[in-house]
Amino acid sequence: MKNLKIAIQKSGRLNEKSVQLLKNCGLNFENYKSSLITTVSNFPLEILFLRDDDIPEYVQDGIADLGIVGENVIVETEANVRYLQRLGFGKCSLKIAVPSHSDAKEPADLNGKAIATSYPTILKKFLDEQSITADIRIISGSVEISPALELSDAIFDIVSTGGTLRSNGLVPFADVMTSEAILIGKNGIENNPVVCELIQRIQSVLRAAETKYVVLNVERSSLADIITLLPGVKSPTIVPLAEENWVAVHTVIAEQDFWDKINKLKAAGAQGIVVMPVEKIII
Ligand code: ATP
Ligand code: MG
Repeated sequence: MKNLKIAIQKSGRLNEKSVQLLKNCGLNFENYKSSLITTVSNFPLEILFLRDDDIPEYVQDGIADLGIVGENVIVETEANVRYLQRLGFGKCSLKIAVPSHSDAKEPADLNGKAIATSYPTILKKFLDEQSITADIRIISGSVEISPALELSDAIFDIVSTGGTLRSNGLVPFADVMTSEAILIGKNGIENNPVVCELIQRIQSVLRAAETKYVVLNVERSSLADIITLLPGVKSPTIVPLAEENWVAVHTVIAEQDFWDKINKLKAAGAQGIVVMPVEKIII
């Protein structure tokens, strides 16, 4: 059977995390900066390294079976592909921003204005929905500079921390979409057993990344209090300690409530808390 192909970004913001995710799924491959294609030695998959803009169409046309790319690029290219799995990295928002001295107060104030962007399709859809007619100026990079050069009255671009906007004298004006990296596939590929296996592995890596393994010691008299603080776990493992009346509790805690939980566990008598990363969670 022919190997499947997955397209990932060759270099840029999604490259490193895409490579890391595939490695965490147990895939062995060489990752030379110069190579455009590499074979996975222990899984029937080849990896293509491409410009991110090309990935949705390569997958739509079946040149690649799978791809990892930002949702913003999928929507912008209007490619007909399957969303197989949200990946939780490459998170950003796409916003309209205006110069801080602009008198535009609400979306309707953009009527008749020029907006510079590298994402004309997404912007056009948003403006149409809001019944705004503006002049969309397509610029391929450094969009933030265009109001200062009087090329536009506003911009529409990716914003993550807002630092680039601020340093160019711009302020956010309207949120248009949020984005993260997505595993996409050509239509029909979701039933392929190799793809199902890869998705399962990815899900187990993503679940593990959201979870910490925690071991703590507690006196038996406080054990009931500790267990009520761990409602997410059906049955934590309790191991007797050499010291009488003490036990060790082994459990997993979601990353997002980690600090809150740890402080409550300490207050309830937990001692010697050891926290470890989790590599994979298979359910
Ligand atoms: P390529 O050379 O592959 O075309 P690029 O320059 O178009 O790369 P990058 O800047 O590497 O793209 O960004 C890739 C993707 O990372 C974006 O499309 C977006 O989904 C995501 N992303 C997350 N945060 C940011 C950010 N702060 N700025 C730009 N992109 C971001
Ligand atoms: Mg690009």
